[in-house]
Amino acid sequence: MNLATTPSTTTASEALFERARAVTPGGVNSPVRAFTAVGGTPRFITSASGAWLTDADGNDYVDLICSWGPMLLGHAHPDVQAAVAGAVARGTSYGTPTEPEVELAEEIVARTPVELVRFVSSGTEATMSAIRLARGATGRDIVVKFAGCYHGHVDPLLAQAGSGVATLAVPGTSGVPVSSTADTLVLPYNDREAVLAAFESDGPRIACLITEAVPGNMGVVPPAPGFNAFLAETCRAHGALFISDEVMTGFRATAQGGWGLDGAIEGWTPDLMTFGKVMGGGFPAAAFGGRADLMAHLAPEGSVYQAGTLSGNPVATTAGLATLRLATPEVYEHLDATAHTIRTAVSETLEAASVPHTVQTAGTMFSVFFREESVRDFAEASQQDTAAYAAFFHSMLDHGVYLPPSAYEAWFVSAAHDDRAISTIIDALPAAALAAA
Ligand code: PLP
Repeated sequence: MNLATTPSTTTASEALFERARAVTPGGVNSPVRAFTAVGGTPRFITSASGAWLTDADGNDYVDLICSWGPMLLGHAHPDVQAAVAGAVARGTSYGTPTEPEVELAEEIVARTPVELVRFVSSGTEATMSAIRLARGATGRDIVVKFAGCYHGHVDPLLAQAGSGVATLAVPGTSGVPVSSTADTLVLPYNDREAVLAAFESDGPRIACLITEAVPGNMGVVPPAPGFNAFLAETCRAHGALFISDEVMTGFRATAQGGWGLDGAIEGWTPDLMTFGKVMGGGFPAAAFGGRADLMAHLAPEGSVYQAGTLSGNPVATTAGLATLRLATPEVYEHLDATAHTIRTAVSETLEAASVPHTVQTAGTMFSVFFREESVRDFAEASQQDTAAYAAFFHSMLDHGVYLPPSAYEAWFVSAAHDDRAISTIIDALPAAALAAA
């Protein structure tokens, strides 16, 4: 074990970053990875096992990114690896239906309220397809979304989005024609009045409202009690569809996803849902699903076209299936306990150093905002001390803990985060709190 300690050697990562920038925009294939918001050199990871990442310089880090959510069981879980190796040995893609797709769909239908599910290769495709289906099924055009929610880089959904868009502080993005967002209404999160006003003025033209089941892309901002149920009811009253985006929360926040935190208890169901991350077990797999009568609008039986060369890929669906089958109630209990221990330690250490902060939680997901008051929407999330986060982040990194390189992201733990991983985090906290003070 070679924990990164100040000053850790990063020459190999630096050399790789320079080579990367010569051939790839910003040196990365997804913007937040570039450390733009926190400064410095992203560590190039060469291998991962359990809760740990190893970089090109041989430094080890406890991983609190977990591939931005998917690695629920930790890295290189032996049973997932074995299932994947078996799938690879049988060939990697056929372009025909396969049994693992059926089994994974059955698993998702069993855990969530969706009746039918279709696979795609990324969360972006899932939300893009879900809103196309909503528009096709309702014959309406307007999509309602919330500021700070991120639903992938789909043109009409990139208005005031969270995640990298929030990290880089761009209100939207160039390259999206005005016409693509003309039918997108962006509302403040957790604001019932704004939702009612939008439906009163545009109700008959609203195809769907899409929201993260629990927003995690502006940091974790839980819905106010009853907010999701209110959204489902408002959509129903106006003949619009309610899409719950569970790409991040699905099979992660709880065994049933974000829906398990309120829908399963209060008895409401979304019309359509989107999934990704955990259900792909670290491979590119995602899905959208929902009521059978709505899903029937999809080709080949219906008129809404949607397709994909690698959709339902046998290796990806095998990895996802192995992951979900291993994600037992005990795993979620362990994740809950681990997340609780880490957030308590972070909070107590920041408190002791008089660093203003608030920790927000949704099931096993949480994030730390560097501001005193709790955060209810994107405007409030934007009023955090991002410089304090950057200082905290770098100190943690230097002490062997890899946090998300942005203040606008959730922190993820895995079932492989054991006592050693937790004590590495706890040991790193005092210096990081001082750095942030
Ligand atoms: N929806 C949500 C809630 C997400 O968190 C993300 C990605 O972080 C997406 C959609 C897009 O998924 P992908 O990055 O797989 O395209």
